[in-house]
Amino acid sequence: MQPALSGWTDDAAVLAWGLLFGSFLNVVAYRVPRGISVIWPPSACPHCGGRLAPRDLVPLFSYLWLRGRCRRCRAPISPLYPLGEALTALTFWLVWHRVGPTPELAVGWGLASLLVAATMADLRDRLIPNRIVLAAAMFLGGCRLLTHPLPLEAYALGAAAGFGVLYALNGLSLLVYRQEGIGGGDMKLMAAVGLAVGWKTVLLALLIGSLLGGAVAILLLATGKAHRRQYLPFGPMLAAGSLIAYLWGDALIAWYLGWSIS
Ligand SMILES: [Zn+2]
Repeated sequence: MQPALSGWTDDAAVLAWGLLFGSFLNVVAYRVPRGISVIWPPSACPHCGGRLAPRDLVPLFSYLWLRGRCRRCRAPISPLYPLGEALTALTFWLVWHRVGPTPELAVGWGLASLLVAATMADLRDRLIPNRIVLAAAMFLGGCRLLTHPLPLEAYALGAAAGFGVLYALNGLSLLVYRQEGIGGGDMKLMAAVGLAVGWKTVLLALLIGSLLGGAVAILLLATGKAHRRQYLPFGPMLAAGSLIAYLWGDALIAWYLGWSIS
């Protein structure tokens, strides 16, 4: 696919839309595990209860301006909020440059939204909520019925592969280490990803996510920032692997095949 021809106004519009949608995804990732409506009440400071003003609608800017503190009571605000917005804007922008104004944009932005919301929930609460994954899977599956570069079976197989590989790895972990290695949320997340990207890309996503997870674990252990048996959220690694595989999987596979043959 050719990158879309777009001027800087398109880039600015996509980034602004990503920031705005990212603040909604933050609300979803925080509230869904707590069983709070994502529509009502409006966002408030958890310390003083002060409602966020419309000028705080994109907290990334207020966060930077107010140096990470509530406007009213100066209580520190979690850096996860600006992180979620920045990640949404960045991933929306990358998807836009990859697929342009095509029907695939709905899949790409839907996938990016799922990956950001899952990352935020896993970092904050160490879980990936079923309801977020289910809603995303229904949206992505519906999109794939309408636009599918691969035959439909490839996407159904993708869902099975995304779930099945992690399920099997977890079984292996139970057998060898006598403990769960991979959470059910990770399996369901990768089922939804597989439904969106097909079986080849989801296998690549699992490979990249595992390599990233291993690298981060070694880094954290080596620098003493983590110890063995400590929980390391796997969701963000799988999310990063999924985005990389979705955006650049074909190029990576072509490069690898060319490199391994020559
Ligand atoms: Zn406050």
